[in-house]
Amino acid sequence: MSELNAAASDVLIIGGGLIGLSIAWHLADHGIHAVVLERDTVGSGASGAATGLLAPVTASGRFGHMVDFGIESLQYYSEFLSFVREESQQEIELQTAGLMRIAIDSGAEAMLSKFDNWPHAKSLEMVRLSATEALSIAPYISPDVRGAVISPMERQVNPRTLLKCLRKCCMKRGVSIIEHEQARSISDISGSGNKRAIRVRTDKEDYCFDALVIASGAWSADLGRTLGYALPVRPMKGQVLTALPGTTPHNVQFTVYGNHSYIIPGDDNALLLGSTSVNSGFDTRPTLKGITDIVASTAQMMPSILDSEFQHTWCGLRPATPDYFPILGRLPSWDNVFVATGHYKNGILLTPITGKVIATEIYCGDVSPLIEKYRPDRFCSSN
Ligand SMILES: Cc1cc2nc3c(=O)[nH]c(=O)nc-3n(C[C@H](O)[C@H](O)[C@H](O)COP(=O)(O)OP(=O)(O)OC[C@H]3O[C@@H](n4cnc5c(N)ncnc54)[C@H](O)[C@@H]3O)c2cc1C
Repeated sequence: MSELNAAASDVLIIGGGLIGLSIAWHLADHGIHAVVLERDTVGSGASGAATGLLAPVTASGRFGHMVDFGIESLQYYSEFLSFVREESQQEIELQTAGLMRIAIDSGAEAMLSKFDNWPHAKSLEMVRLSATEALSIAPYISPDVRGAVISPMERQVNPRTLLKCLRKCCMKRGVSIIEHEQARSISDISGSGNKRAIRVRTDKEDYCFDALVIASGAWSADLGRTLGYALPVRPMKGQVLTALPGTTPHNVQFTVYGNHSYIIPGDDNALLLGSTSVNSGFDTRPTLKGITDIVASTAQMMPSILDSEFQHTWCGLRPATPDYFPILGRLPSWDNVFVATGHYKNGILLTPITGKVIATEIYCGDVSPLIEKYRPDRFCSSN
């Protein structure tokens, strides 16, 4: 067995995405040493492919506990990023121009009216706009617009910069990161006293740890299976593309969201356009259909997009569960195996809060009321 099973290596986290790194970083805050095991490179999964909207309300279009959880994470983001900036000595820009959700058809217009009496709308400073008001602020959107909501508190972060900085912070706090090594199976071995130690077999080594976190994104089901649990996580392919201004500058100042697609102003005048959500297994090839779907739906919101110059496209696999809510917390009948996966379209938004609540649960057993609806036992019966 590897030397890493020495006393200092307390918690193994399988998965080097933003969720795994955030848990490792928060564990270090409690003085717990974590090892992050990544089969490829840190950020090679969904986290490195994401667009980074921090938009619990506008992007989900849903109300209820998941929005509350997202708002909690959004509120924690500024504090989290200020620590990450300070420790990594690197700037991470939080795009603060806000989001505009627009309605082009009657269904979307009816959706906008739901914001009127929604209790959080006031605290998030959301403002309803008529079509005329929306066009005066954003003349580049379609003249067919029927109305809009401006949401100034919702934001966007560059997930690739965040990954780089968080990795640096983790290393500074003593987190060990092992790349290019895949966990193949998990089992328990008898340890000292009544504590069951965990054995993780990889394609290179056998490791022994006091506790384990499955944070393996869209690939989490395989690891659950080796423990005898059916973790119902499946990959949902998301494709995005970037475009440069065409013959005229686009002047997009803030993220425009509607009809499940969005236009985000990016660096160097580029626009980030997204996104698809397709169940096609673990296939990560960008497709022409993906491009045409994104172009068709964003051009409905902003017709001048068709004049843009195509720059680049890529895909990632979002981890989705049957109810589209994450799976967070200790596995039933295990003292020391935890799950943090299934964040689907909200993993970048939920990175800080997930790290905080899972690290606290590992450290002292306290389960945050915020994650009571996301416990593994709503799905997991052992096989
Ligand atoms: C196109 C796109 C746009 C998105 N936009 C947004 C957005 O705007 N806002 C937002 O909040 N979210 C967004 N998301 C969703 C977000 O990216 C995910 O929810 C989040 O990244 C999940 O993070 P994770 O760490 O759980 O998974 P991942 O980042 O996928 O990390 C899991 C890691 O585990 C590793 N792994 C898997 N199995 C093993 C194993 N057996 N052994 C070792 N390592 C293993 C993988 O290689 C991977 O690196 C988007 C996703 C996509 C694809």
